Amino acid sequence: MSSQAIYLDSAASTAIDPRVTESMIRALSHCGNPHAQHHTHGALASSMVRQARSHVASAIGASPDEIVFTSGATEANNLAVLGLCSKLRSSGKTHIVVGAVEHSSVLEPLRASSAYSVSVIAPKPCGMIDASMIEPHLTDQTGLVCLQAVNNEVGTIQPVSEVAELLHKRNIFLHCDAAQALGKISFNVRASGVDFATISSHKFHGPPGIGALYIRKELSSTLLPQLFGGGQEQGLRSGTLSTPLCVGFGTACELLDNDNARLWSLRQRFLKALAPLAPTTYEHKDPAWQVPGIISLRFHSIDQETLVMGLPKLSFGTGAACRSRGTTYSHVISAIAGEAASRETIRISLSRMSSEHEVDTASEMIAQFVQSVRKLKEVA
Ligand code: PMP
Repeated sequence: MSSQAIYLDSAASTAIDPRVTESMIRALSHCGNPHAQHHTHGALASSMVRQARSHVASAIGASPDEIVFTSGATEANNLAVLGLCSKLRSSGKTHIVVGAVEHSSVLEPLRASSAYSVSVIAPKPCGMIDASMIEPHLTDQTGLVCLQAVNNEVGTIQPVSEVAELLHKRNIFLHCDAAQALGKISFNVRASGVDFATISSHKFHGPPGIGALYIRKELSSTLLPQLFGGGQEQGLRSGTLSTPLCVGFGTACELLDNDNARLWSLRQRFLKALAPLAPTTYEHKDPAWQVPGIISLRFHSIDQETLVMGLPKLSFGTGAACRSRGTTYSHVISAIAGEAASRETIRISLSRMSSEHEVDTASEMIAQFVQSVRKLKEVA
């Protein structure tokens, strides 16, 4: 069935680019441990990792020694938040400000500890959290603000550089979860002024299982490691690096393509086809603050489960993809539009590999199904 299903969940994970796969296959045929640089095999693996690190760094305007490889964005977010908080506490900075629409890998580590007080900022209806909403919450104890670059469920772009400017005047760190930025918008750590940034390879056609935390050069000693062992990755993340994953991640960074014109046209095509059904879309109405590939849709009085069951040939998101336990609905949609909305909202996410044909077929299938459910409800 999966070969006939249409993939509409690229914000959860993208298809690996065949050029990435090729580069990984080449790396898989080498056996050296990249940390055993004293022999030929290790030195070769190490040079492959070094090259990959430099591709990752240049994709975000960082230098290679500012990149710490992790297993993905979840680990990078945990390392930033927990690693920083442990250090901040000793300087009396025990207050953290975070957006309610952050990913759970930012929110949950904060919830897990009672050592900090956390202010959670409600978003505007478009999902945005700007500097004027953050400022009133800052105190002398505030040590960290977490603000994502792009929201993973509604696709709103956050005003990160404006927030960075505010925070730096007050000596407060900014961590930016940029997992959904790469491949969708250009994201440069220097231009945006972030202190820490998270990225994840499988969100832009690289392999799953690898990501990175950018740490501004002067700040590497501000973090406490969360994994201890052989002291790899500047002592911040022990464990042997996977050369093939690093290489694939590096290739995906080299292939990054932020040309959104095609995706805007696919988005408009899709929404035009569904317009007669009058869905509610959660988005930023100004295209300058919206990524085109993420489309959040609500069909009133039709819950997600009905749509999932009725449309088995469409692989779309329900806002709960990142949760493997239970059926918790999206905290992002709840924060934006309330709990009822979160039960009825689905996410369609497209990538550079999505086609017009897929968009046309998917919108037609959704339209037919929603109409048939509405008719049944009228009869009942
Ligand atoms: N942050 C954001 C904004 C995300 O969209 C995701 C993936 N849904 C993550 C973090 C977690 O990423 P990973 O799968 O690499 O752990």
